Amino acid sequence: MSAASALVLFSGGQDSATCLADALSRFGHVETIGFAYGQRHLVEMQVRLAFLRDLRARFAQLAAGLGQDHVLDLAVLGQVSDTALTRDVAITMTEGGLPSTFVPGRNLIFLNFAAALAYRRGIRHIILGVCETDYSGYPDCRDDTIKAMQIALNLGMERRFVLETPLMWRDKAATWQMAHDLGGEALVTLIRDQTHSCYLGERSLHHAWGYGCGSCPACQLRAEGWRRFACSTI
Ligand code: ZN
Repeated sequence: MSAASALVLFSGGQDSATCLADALSRFGHVETIGFAYGQRHLVEMQVRLAFLRDLRARFAQLAAGLGQDHVLDLAVLGQVSDTALTRDVAITMTEGGLPSTFVPGRNLIFLNFAAALAYRRGIRHIILGVCETDYSGYPDCRDDTIKAMQIALNLGMERRFVLETPLMWRDKAATWQMAHDLGGEALVTLIRDQTHSCYLGERSLHHAWGYGCGSCPACQLRAEGWRRFACSTI
């Protein structure tokens, strides 16, 4: 098991793209994993491949340690969840106070598969871009949830995995700043244009903060983070 290697859960969004760049700056060998789980839009899966391609092409030094990309088919998750991420229904707040985009247990399931892959690949560090600060109300993004998962995985797989969450206490503006610190304006531009957050899968409208519909909760969060980041750097 190599301490110098990491596996990044890379969805194609801003947060996991920033985590990937951060991991590449800290580990000699970094692999990525993505999940196809019946998302309403395949845009994320397409964008993540374009991001990896451009990262290799335009950031050769940073991407020197970029290894294999793994995509797992978790279509079964779409069968057991009835949410606005996997079905064509409106994004609203549910009775329990959670947004209807919440796929129950999604990150817990992802982490199980990521750890099983890390086990096979001899990788110790598993990195994911969850965050409590710009809290969307997803309980599986909480620091305590991730810490509990680390213990469960280490017990259940007899390993010493380290689950890292570099963005846990950063807001979206600080995440843009982190990308800037890692790769300057060029990396910020790559993340802005080659990652995707919009729940509606909109890729034809380009804003200062990237592509998206501009009105869904994910677009609003991204736009607000960008606004605060842009204000702080002017
Ligand atoms: Zn949107």
